[in-house]
Amino acid sequence: MGAVTLRVETTRWRAHLHRVADTSPGLVPVAKGNGYGFGLGRLAVEAEQLGAGTLAVGVAAEVAAVHDQFGGDIVIMTPFRPGDPLALQLAADPRIITTVSRLDDLTLLAGAAGSPRVVVEVLTTMCRHGIAVDDLPAVPDLLPGLTFEGWTIHLPIAGNQAPEAAALVRASQAAAPGPSWLSHLPADRARQLGVDVRLRVGTKLWLGDPASLRTTATVLDVHRVRRGEHAGYRLRRVGHDGWLVVLAGGTANGIALSAPTAAAGPRQRALAVISGGLEASGRSLSPYTIAGKKRWFLEPPHMQVSLVLLPDPVTPPAVGEEIEVQVRNTTALFDRIVDA
Ligand SMILES: *Cc1c(COP(=O)(O)O)cnc(C)c1O
Repeated sequence: MGAVTLRVETTRWRAHLHRVADTSPGLVPVAKGNGYGFGLGRLAVEAEQLGAGTLAVGVAAEVAAVHDQFGGDIVIMTPFRPGDPLALQLAADPRIITTVSRLDDLTLLAGAAGSPRVVVEVLTTMCRHGIAVDDLPAVPDLLPGLTFEGWTIHLPIAGNQAPEAAALVRASQAAAPGPSWLSHLPADRARQLGVDVRLRVGTKLWLGDPASLRTTATVLDVHRVRRGEHAGYRLRRVGHDGWLVVLAGGTANGIALSAPTAAAGPRQRALAVISGGLEASGRSLSPYTIAGKKRWFLEPPHMQVSLVLLPDPVTPPAVGEEIEVQVRNTTALFDRIVDA
């Protein structure tokens, strides 16, 4: 079977998960989106085995994928908004913690059934969601009818977060005491805050030991090609004698996708080209490594298949062989995940 396969060296990977759990104060594993490549259900099971008391999901619709696999509390990180029937229904579930980022939404939820459990979001310099520092003193009066589970502070990844974290923790604790739910703060910094911390971690947990993860793609076909011949959907001209290697993996697998934000400066743009994210003079370097080198795409990847050129005199791989492919796990969809 042809596939893009994620191979997890589970003993090593789980040792890393335990190391992060042991060193992160009040670790809250994050399972959202594509489940960092592993899938939400798998992460819920792993979080349960890690002994986490709370799991964080991104949006209300993701709760269904983790609810039965994880026995503890589930915090929904995207703030509650009026007019979302699913979020309102989940707020009544005693295992769900709802994030609230506006004073009006606190009022609305306080009128809902079952004294919903809430964390209240504080606006940071990231400027995404949250109640501004000046408005925090208004929060305690809106808490009757709710079960207050603490404050949430989502820091930017860039810059020195420690002083901002300290200032926002101080301001929020002055308004109402409760746990501080933090993201993107190193564990030692979080501990120095001297408050009850819940540290949410996704990438550094699930993808923090890249050597425990390996991605391969199956060789589906190999064709002899001559310089000047044309091939592919777009009948692109082949520049060298060699081999056209047909590989498992395409846009549906997230092959050759890179986040636009990753290409900020000239150096980063160059890196994006190298990893196959952008077109360079009509051709892109693919993320597939054959005989020790990344190889050029003939044309942009198809939905589930890619065409890659292998110039003479390199010996082509055999059909059925597994070759190394570099993917971004947060945008990847693997055909299978194999525990090794
Ligand atoms: C996604 C998210 C995280 C986890 O981010 P990583 O960079 O993957 O660790 C933490 N906190 C919030 C609020 C998030 O939305």
